[in-house]
Amino acid sequence: MKKYLLPILMLLLFEAVAVVLWLTKDNLFYLFNFSYIGFSIALGLFLFIRKYRHARRVVQLLVGLYMLVYLGLICGENMQIEGFWYYLFTGVFEAATIHYAVAKIFGPLIFGRGWCGYACWTAMVLDFLPYKVPAEPRKKLSWIRYLTFGLSLVFVAALFLAKAANIERIMFWAFIIGNIAYYAVGVALALLLRDNRAFCKYVCPITVFLKPMSYFSLFRIRCDESRCVSCGKCKLVCPMDVDVTDNSRKRKNGTECILCMECVKNCPKKAL
Ligand code: SF4
Ligand code: SF4
Ligand code: SF4
Repeated sequence: MKKYLLPILMLLLFEAVAVVLWLTKDNLFYLFNFSYIGFSIALGLFLFIRKYRHARRVVQLLVGLYMLVYLGLICGENMQIEGFWYYLFTGVFEAATIHYAVAKIFGPLIFGRGWCGYACWTAMVLDFLPYKVPAEPRKKLSWIRYLTFGLSLVFVAALFLAKAANIERIMFWAFIIGNIAYYAVGVALALLLRDNRAFCKYVCPITVFLKPMSYFSLFRIRCDESRCVSCGKCKLVCPMDVDVTDNSRKRKNGTECILCMECVKNCPKKAL
């Protein structure tokens, strides 16, 4: 049972969030929502421990499709960053605001960028592309994320300043168009730069939250230096160019780690 402690803890953590939000917001949706996500993540961790090769992809599809199809398209919630700004401006601490607080702002203090490895519906599609490991060195393009972050804020602020009618409807369409744009740019960049995660590295505005918060992450991959033989395999399989053998928080690209476990699976000495 001891080896299943992590999935059990993850399930309990999400269940705690689910129950607290259900009771404080008096809304059964939160119980269902966070229980489902917690169960999906715990299932993925369980499958990983059982050495199932596609464990992470199972979680990514379970959570990503649920958010995109059920919350986004069926419930009409804009779960992209524009939705977060929208709810923040309206002063409503619900839906996208809670999602951002849990998954992308405070959650990364515990589980780092687990969102990016196991739940994001943009990466869910990008991870089907052929360049799972970047075929080219990293480019100096990460400034683009600040531009997209600023543009998303300006877009929503402008709607409020202009007192646009039917903002809720606009936000729904912004979600559809925004996702189409993310997929188009993400696929184009991945093929152009031969790197499935190029969009995550250079363009995604959410990383403006994710990176600083995940710097302090409780869960992180650590290297047992007494076992490591410096073969470099871990770095060869990393989709995010993380210098994972350096245990310091300042490790190169440390805030890019998506906890995909490829380095762990491929280390011949079980040093990670
Ligand atoms: S960086 Fe952005 S697009 Fe990439 S997985 Fe994370 S949230 Fe999704
Ligand atoms: S794959 Fe394992 S042994 Fe090789 S460098 Fe990485 S941590 Fe060390
Ligand atoms: S391969 Fe290892 S260091 Fe790289 S992103 Fe995945 S878990 Fe993080």
